[in-house]
Amino acid sequence: MNAIEIRGLTKTYSNGVEALKGIDLTVQQGDFYALLGPNGAGKSTTIGILSSLVTKSSGSVSVFGHSIDNALEQAKSCIGLVPQEFNFNQFETLLQIVVNQAGYYGVPRKEALQRAEKYLTQLELWEKRNHRARELSGGMKRRLMIARALMHEPQMLILDEPTAGVDIEIRRGMWDFLREINQQGKTIILTTHYLEEAELLCRNIGIINKGQIVANTSMKDLLATL
Ligand code: ADP
Ligand code: ADP
Repeated sequence: MNAIEIRGLTKTYSNGVEALKGIDLTVQQGDFYALLGPNGAGKSTTIGILSSLVTKSSGSVSVFGHSIDNALEQAKSCIGLVPQEFNFNQFETLLQIVVNQAGYYGVPRKEALQRAEKYLTQLELWEKRNHRARELSGGMKRRLMIARALMHEPQMLILDEPTAGVDIEIRRGMWDFLREINQQGKTIILTTHYLEEAELLCRNIGIINKGQIVANTSMKDLLATL
């Protein structure tokens, strides 16, 4: 079974912009996959459709075998999304933010607290658990969103430009963490417009431009052609 299967996916926004013009994309279970492309290529739209924040115009999308047309809840529960913008309540504490997230997925409170300790500790945020999110540095906010995305223990993590605006030292820490959870079996997809980041981390890569996939290959083969 594939983590993601996208066939003939199109998206035309209400203003007439054709953000996706019929893309096909397969991501295998356990993969570390980069979706690379310039600004405006359609990366966020693709991720938005996968995580059901954006409705598709046509085509099919399956997540771990669950079609978003008829098994949306199952598809959603397989995905932990780390969006580009900070979208948590800045006045809540870190602990509130991650525990509430688990609540949305029906995780019992005791279990949610155990997971909160586990993931906030892994992301070096446990000591800050009773601080309000607004007090965190940018790098910490980014890590908070990763911890939050893990709280329902999804099979796959999708990160939209995870290291945008994050300085190099913090970026390395995030890379190490992502590598580690990938080695433990989690499928990871990230979007980036830095080939260097994709090259460092990812096994396979899709290159998207103007709403079309222009290459879909292993990182090894891509680098051999450059
Ligand atoms: P990327 O993530 O690769 O930068 P996006 O998926 O954000 O690309 O954007 C693809 C295209 O769709 C761009 O031309 C962008 O301006 C347009 N677009 C994105 N979101 C919207 C929206 N909500 N309404 C209208 N157009 C949009
Ligand atoms: P700053 O306040 O300078 O932005 P942070 O407080 O965000 O820095 O980061 C604190 C420490 O956590 C840094 O030493 C960094 O290397 C480390 N770190 C960053 N990201 C991770 C991560 N994902 N996992 C583990 N450690 C990390």
